[in-house]
Amino acid sequence: MSTNGSDDDQPFTKLVTGGRRSEWTGVVVNAPVWRASTILFDSVAHLRAAVKRNQDGDFYYGRRGTPTQWSLAEALTALEPGAAGTMLYPSGVAAICGALLSVVKPGDHLLVADSVYDPTRVFCHHVLAPMGIETEFYDPMIGAGIADLCRPNTRVIFLESPGSLTFEVQDVPAICAVAKARNIVTMIDNTWATPLLFPAISRGVDFTILACTKYVVGHSDVMMGSVTTTEAYWAGLRRTTQLYGQIVSPDDAALASRGLRTMGVRLRQQGESALQIALWLEQQRGIRAVYHPALPNCPGHAFWKRDFNGAASLFAFEFDTDVTDSQRCAFVDRLRLFGIGFSWGGFESLALAIDPASIRTATTWEGHGLMVRLHIGLEDAGDLTADLAQSLEHVIA
Ligand SMILES: *Cc1c(COP(=O)(O)O)cnc(C)c1O
Repeated sequence: MSTNGSDDDQPFTKLVTGGRRSEWTGVVVNAPVWRASTILFDSVAHLRAAVKRNQDGDFYYGRRGTPTQWSLAEALTALEPGAAGTMLYPSGVAAICGALLSVVKPGDHLLVADSVYDPTRVFCHHVLAPMGIETEFYDPMIGAGIADLCRPNTRVIFLESPGSLTFEVQDVPAICAVAKARNIVTMIDNTWATPLLFPAISRGVDFTILACTKYVVGHSDVMMGSVTTTEAYWAGLRRTTQLYGQIVSPDDAALASRGLRTMGVRLRQQGESALQIALWLEQQRGIRAVYHPALPNCPGHAFWKRDFNGAASLFAFEFDTDVTDSQRCAFVDRLRLFGIGFSWGGFESLALAIDPASIRTATTWEGHGLMVRLHIGLEDAGDLTADLAQSLEHVIA
């Protein structure tokens, strides 16, 4: 039998078969860890031939990876119909920087969603601005209105949908149509949805970026990022990434590859629990609003319904305006099953006090109460609800 996937397979099948070429796995199931810096060649002629071919999936030098990394990259590409290839990075932030740096040049203008992950914003200010690349932030709900912000030197429109912390779902097809008509490159931070819930390339986006640290790794023990793009941009992405010397360790790649195989069931189960808990939270005293793309009050809910295959397990809620910061902190501190910390997408639940208003520039966040972001893990949803209930009761009553 062959484990090679077919383009016609469903995403859950591709999660299992992706990247498992027999020349990479040998006789075991998943690609083993190939630790390497030096690759040895039979002869000078063979080394010269490898340099000349300059191919992916070809032994060359440790910085170009080994079957462990190639297998993971190929599996991620397989999940994005229409994609040409994937580069891996040592973190999600490095992936965002890698995608941008492969396209922008001094004098360019960049449009970035105001709801973007904060380190993306900081990178634009502190790295791109001094290089002479101007960033303008736009209302994530702008849709086709983005045309009014496009200039002759606009090179990239950067999207993140749903938005970090506030979960606005963008009208991705409308923005991509404006960009295509003007030859502007589109990039999306697709970490929340993954290709399972939003296959971005087939929906018209040129670059899709994942913080693999989250759902791909899935076990809160590895940092990694990926960028997947189309034929038009693949050679440039690959070249820039290699010039910056970006590589992930084979040990980390093997763990990410192991995580990827079960991402579908984790995401489905965690998404189901998260929606159940979001609906429950909406009914509780002391809660003013819940921001979850599958709930009708979420900005862009109609786009989520039209474009997404489901909902992930990260959302936020807002307390009533009379709830103080110390009450909010006490609520988080009292939770038994929710860890307090950054990141998300692992098998365990997390709670984080968030203040999105402070990081906006193009729009003002209209929320009035203090907010908490929840990541729902694989624990029993009833236990999680009971935990939230005991803390709410104690702090809000
Ligand atoms: C966490 C996160 C990142 C960055 O990933 P790291 O691996 O932590 O660098 C990027 N985008 C989003 C939306 C994230 O949540």
